[in-house]
Amino acid sequence: MSEMSYQLSQLEAMNNRLLRDEAMYQMICGTAPDAYVYLDFVQKRIVHLGNWSHFFDFELNYNAISRLLDSVEEKYHTDVYDCLMLEKNKLHQKTVEFKVFERYFWIQMDAFATYDENQNEISKLLRFRDVTKFKKQNEEIDFLAYYDMYTGLMNRNYFIVKLRQMLKKAEENKDVVSVLFIDVDHFHKVNDGMGMLMGDELVQLIGQLFKEVESSNVMVSHFNSDVFCVAIYDPCGSYSVENIIAEIKNKLKEPIRLSNSTEVTVSISIGVAEYPECASDALNLINCAEIVMYKSKSSQKNGVQYYDSPIIQEFIEKVHIEQRFEQALKKQGFFMCYQPQYSTDGRLLRGLEALVRWKDEDGKVISPATFIPIAEKNGSILRLGDWIMEKSISDFAKWREKYYVDDITLSINVSALQFKNIGFIKSLMHMLEAYHVPPTMIELEITESVFIDDIEDVIEKMNILRGSGIRFSMDDFGTGFSSLSYLRRLPIDTLKIDKSFVDTVVTDSPTRMIAETIIDMGKKLGFHTIAEGVEDEVQFDILRDIGCDNIQGFYMGKPMESEKIERLLAVR
Ligand code: C2E
Ligand code: CA
Ligand code: CA
Repeated sequence: MSEMSYQLSQLEAMNNRLLRDEAMYQMICGTAPDAYVYLDFVQKRIVHLGNWSHFFDFELNYNAISRLLDSVEEKYHTDVYDCLMLEKNKLHQKTVEFKVFERYFWIQMDAFATYDENQNEISKLLRFRDVTKFKKQNEEIDFLAYYDMYTGLMNRNYFIVKLRQMLKKAEENKDVVSVLFIDVDHFHKVNDGMGMLMGDELVQLIGQLFKEVESSNVMVSHFNSDVFCVAIYDPCGSYSVENIIAEIKNKLKEPIRLSNSTEVTVSISIGVAEYPECASDALNLINCAEIVMYKSKSSQKNGVQYYDSPIIQEFIEKVHIEQRFEQALKKQGFFMCYQPQYSTDGRLLRGLEALVRWKDEDGKVISPATFIPIAEKNGSILRLGDWIMEKSISDFAKWREKYYVDDITLSINVSALQFKNIGFIKSLMHMLEAYHVPPTMIELEITESVFIDDIEDVIEKMNILRGSGIRFSMDDFGTGFSSLSYLRRLPIDTLKIDKSFVDTVVTDSPTRMIAETIIDMGKKLGFHTIAEGVEDEVQFDILRDIGCDNIQGFYMGKPMESEKIERLLAVR
């Protein structure tokens, strides 16, 4: 073979190999999901490879590759441009993610450039990759991290982040931010009565209504369960706190219809706190709004309570009491006092009411009016109630033996929670047996709150106890919803007329008439009557004259510790 034909055959072989390689690259790129654009700066040519049509409906021109920018959403223009013009900054590689103009389509673009030893560009490769699916997943994850799935509102964490930003801005501009802490009233009734699914649905519907008040300076968030929080930047005009509250309340005017066709009328309680007046940081501001919200629940002032510092003081005191209360339970920090009750006719000792006291570590005596409501709320009344029952029954048993007392009554105050607790009857009967006190000498003082919720159960329990001889007194009568006709259904023996009637029975004739009616009707219905908080002789005389059977109060005797009671029993 001549040299020439040898060269030719070599060239042909090389050419064939190149064609096969080219076919291989085409095949690889053609099946890849990505698209490539190759720019050859030496030959000034441009090659499109891969799945280009998936990304764009035009081809790039060697001299006008920035035309790509027409397809890019504006906010990504600068980054995409830098990436396209990589060689201008003598960079080797750059990546950018951008969104296609007016479409939900996300592209990741990688640019790679090569240079010769003099830093002149030789070539550049652009790779386009569809990252829409990945972006979407990330957005969903972000949504779950920042928003609440049920309501579509910001969640608590994200709200706090945004509130911090809002407060920073307010600090710079010397503006005000108001936070509204919103709690749905009696939400547990929906949860308990219709199940959690219906509870979730209700929250979702409420959340959707609240979302409507969102605007550039009003943020709404769903904290948890039935709690929502709103922040208003620079509240004034149509965005004033009053207006936003009115708008929210207006949305709840109509009952909310659930998918099980139940209609629920929703009322809410709102606590309002303001930056910078109440607190300088987000968490404390929310906390202040929450504390005053609880106040709004108890005060019933049409459901809205604005921040005021005595409320916060009261709250701090309450938390302090709760902490010390636990210690007192462990360390026997409680003691009992007894207040005598007398008949109006002959002023004979009719009984003793057991009243608990708490001697704090520093020796200060704390009133049950302060700690009993707290203990009732957090459930510790159960343990305290057991101690009170045992202590007063054992004291009473001792006096019965020592002073031959068998004609007076021991009145024990029983909280609703305590009375409804399983085991109450057993434990009381057990104590009476253990200390040999006849049940007929015991009177339990209950308030109307016992009958809220499950009246039938309570009546059944009372009947069991009455069957053994124990009597019941309706404490604070006249202050609640008590009507005499309603009382007829209840197995009560004694009506304890509240001190508020006694206070004005002398000076206010309508009060006197009411008291007289209560006593009259009460008698006709077979109840005994006792008036509490009688402080002077005039009150005593009037109450006796209008037919009250017994009285209790400072006039005849204050609550006393055991030793004093013993002296009183000794001289009887
Ligand atoms: P309550 O059952 O209505 O008790 C009557 C309260 O009025 C007692 O206050 C008593 O000291 C007070 N009081 C009696 N006579 C007069 C008077 O003439 N003038 C004035 N100004 N006050 C008088 P206390 O002992 O501070 O008890 C407050 C409340 O705490 C009680 O009201 C009761 O609801 C609750 N409590 C007290 N002891 C117990 C207890 O052992 N168990 C439970 N569950 N609650 C209790
Ligand atoms: Ca009482
Ligand atoms: Ca009372």
